[in-house]
Amino acid sequence: MRKYDKVGLIGLGVMGYGMALNLIKAGYTLVACDVNKERIKMIPDQDKVIAVDHPCEVLEHTNTVITMLPNSPHVLEVLEGEQGLLSGEIPEDLFVIDMSSISPDVTKEIGKKLEEKGVKFLDGPVSGGQSGAMNGALTIMVGGKAEDLEDAMPLFQAVGKNIIHCGECGAGQVVKVVNQLMSAINLISMSEAFTLGTKAGVDPEIMMNVIKGGSGRCWAVEDRMPQILKGNFDPGFTINLHTKDIKLAVDMAKNMNLPLYATNLVAELFKTAQVKGYGMNDNCAIIKLYEELAGVEVRK
Ligand code: NAD
Repeated sequence: MRKYDKVGLIGLGVMGYGMALNLIKAGYTLVACDVNKERIKMIPDQDKVIAVDHPCEVLEHTNTVITMLPNSPHVLEVLEGEQGLLSGEIPEDLFVIDMSSISPDVTKEIGKKLEEKGVKFLDGPVSGGQSGAMNGALTIMVGGKAEDLEDAMPLFQAVGKNIIHCGECGAGQVVKVVNQLMSAINLISMSEAFTLGTKAGVDPEIMMNVIKGGSGRCWAVEDRMPQILKGNFDPGFTINLHTKDIKLAVDMAKNMNLPLYATNLVAELFKTAQVKGYGMNDNCAIIKLYEELAGVEVRK
């Protein structure tokens, strides 16, 4: 099994920051890189952090690197950009683990290119949100070779609880897209139905309590409806990031010539929310589209 005391982390945003704290808690020294330096300065145990300016500098300290970035172009930039991980001499036994949610096709291309260069690579997108990242309780969907997963296991166990090997390179990203698509569709179904019930005069909190035990039960109702009832639309997981994930599903289906009816409708609804200026709100703010049409607010 691979042994390492330092690990690189590129991208310390909402998710990467919590992962950073848990990697440090598990005893690793963190080689941290983010275009926004403030994210690195926020870490309390600065003696456990080596801050670097560019991805290539991470490799001066470690040959094991996690990326936690918004989307495919960011991951490609961090790998292949002018000062990217692959811009200089590639260290022996380099291991790159991409935990961002990005395109499965781009992931497969990255995996192929890295394999040709002798670099080990896993995709390991996550579910569990900011609280999962802060509590080291993420679900990790892994794509790649089983022996590489064994090497990455101590790192995954530092940040996650449920670690599932989904198949070969890109399979983790496929499962993540499926999950994101379902959660988006569930958010829309909840928004539509709760707006209807509220307009019909029933207290939405009562509806929530009933549906938590009924067949309409889902993450949207259990996790997001309590925030909607409070009028709390602070992210969490933004409409912008969720729109990105739905678009990944639309692109996958387009490449396979597969009609996905609900997916395309949901993609248009999320795009509408962006156009209305809700992009940086939590994804549960999608309910505002329905509230505005119905002239009611689903609140306590
Ligand atoms: P975020 O936007 O909060 O964080 C991304 C970080 O990457 C930022 O700090 C940004 O400065 C940094 N960054 C961007 N480009 C960079 C570059 N070229 N070099 C170095 N740093 C760079 O995003 P997030 O919410 O932490 O999400 C990260 C990934 O995890 C996304 O793919 C998202 O879809 C996924 N995800 C998010 C959540 C959630 O609840 N937020 C849950 C599960 C999965």
